[in-house]
Amino acid sequence: PLVLGIETSCDETGVGIVRGNTLLADAVASSVTEHERFGGVVPEVASRAHLEAMVPTIQRACETAGVTLKDVDAIAVTAGPGLAGALLVGVASAKALALSLDKPLYGVNHLAAHVAVDQLQHGPLPEPCLALLVSGGHSSLLRVTDITTGVDPLGATIDDAAGEAFDKVARLLGLGFPGGPAIDRTAASGNSVAIDFPRGLTSRKDIERHRFDFSFSGLKTAVARWIEARERAGESVPVADVAASFQEAVADVLVRKALDAATSEGIDSIVLGGGVAANSRLRAMLEERATAVGVRVRVPRPGLCTDNGAMVAALGSEMVSRGRAPSALDIPADSSQPVTHVLW
Ligand code: ATP
Ligand code: MG
Ligand code: FE
Repeated sequence: PLVLGIETSCDETGVGIVRGNTLLADAVASSVTEHERFGGVVPEVASRAHLEAMVPTIQRACETAGVTLKDVDAIAVTAGPGLAGALLVGVASAKALALSLDKPLYGVNHLAAHVAVDQLQHGPLPEPCLALLVSGGHSSLLRVTDITTGVDPLGATIDDAAGEAFDKVARLLGLGFPGGPAIDRTAASGNSVAIDFPRGLTSRKDIERHRFDFSFSGLKTAVARWIEARERAGESVPVADVAASFQEAVADVLVRKALDAATSEGIDSIVLGGGVAANSRLRAMLEERATAVGVRVRVPRPGLCTDNGAMVAALGSEMVSRGRAPSALDIPADSSQPVTHVLW
């Protein structure tokens, strides 16, 4: 089936077009530069930008794919989770398309779509698989038995998301917004064992209660204290070393817990997804350590990890090919949609 997917949960207006598992177009318009001076995404600004970008981005995707809207078999859209006003723009646009073209609508979960996108690069998802979902608002370990109906959390962050930690530490280091890509670049010239930052929820006692959970707010505080101490002593801050050591601490915890979860659940495939999955150190470390213990790893290319419409189209395509019932035309934009609710 030819599926058009729309993504507007945060600051990217994404329109993707797929045929089955084949990616035909992935058009993204980002309002990130409009949020830069505020140091974070401003919801009202994001909604307005989605409204302006929606029609041109749909047109661009159709041109790239060499299709017209009449060729499309189904419309998929991120129903949630995300910013309420931003989601509404995508959901309203998708409903209008579905109604006017008389095609089925699939209101899908943004987080499940971050996992499903890998099928566009590596073919059908291995099921069951263990998904390590790390993004700007979420950090979870998910057991995926069926990407359209069976996504169950084994654990999640108890405070900050991994991407949030990257963004906050980047701000401490004066690296700007969004912080993840900036830390990734800066860390390349730093020493990752220069500073021994804490690995959250990995002590024997924490593991009893939080074996598959994450915590990154203590790490962020540790970085802030370390920088303050240097400045108080009148010493310069070795920005690249701090970035590399922080990144190492995040990747180490994520990889350790993902491998522990896969092994203990008897799952032999890990799929990495979400914006932080674009991180070069996390990708390399996961592949290296997983291979060592015989666990297979699937990591989408960086451009598919951050928010885009192709991931929504990919999950929509699975909904169609597995015969799931389409969504009603009055579905809401669900800002707090849980990951277990894959389809409205
Ligand atoms: P969610 O998916 O939880 O709703 P979101 O959609 O806002 O949140 P994504 O676009 O999936 O988030 O991911 C954005 C996050 O990924 C940001 O926090 C950003 O800093 C981080 N990120 C992007 N690239 C990298 C990178 N190379 N290294 C580390 N973090 C990165
Ligand atoms: Mg974004
Ligand atoms: Fe996302």
